[in-house]
Amino acid sequence: MPRKSLVKSCSLCGAKEVSEPRGEEKYCRDCWEKKIAVEEIVAREFALKRYIRAHSAEKYLIYHSTLKRPCGQLIVVDDGYDLFLTLMLYPNFSWEDAAYHLEGDPEGRLFSEILVDVVAAEVVEPWGGGKWHMEIFRSINPEPEDWNGEM
Ligand SMILES: [Zn+2]
Repeated sequence: MPRKSLVKSCSLCGAKEVSEPRGEEKYCRDCWEKKIAVEEIVAREFALKRYIRAHSAEKYLIYHSTLKRPCGQLIVVDDGYDLFLTLMLYPNFSWEDAAYHLEGDPEGRLFSEILVDVVAAEVVEPWGGGKWHMEIFRSINPEPEDWNGEM
């Protein structure tokens, strides 16, 4: 039996051979690049605005381009070794919805997963990377209770 029959074809285009991602190949190179590009566009809709900056801690409000009010909050604490992140998601945004749709894609991503990518790229990496831990909480209040008029 020729080996070729074992080669999986891409989940998206169904034509080319899979090569991405490494170890869990599901997509051809072109379709993978397309998927990454789409994820980057979705990720750019989020904005992290830092409003507290201390020596070993920071606090951010998380905005999405479709909303005027913040839809989340992030607290970062550095204990000198590891980074501890606490992500609070407000109910005014559809965190559990698929962030995008690609025809035939076996692996969609949720908005909440995309946000974790954004936090890793915009907060963890600039901080120096290394080991980090994240806890995610769903707030039942649309905004923090200690909201004051200054922000
Ligand atoms: Zn493909």
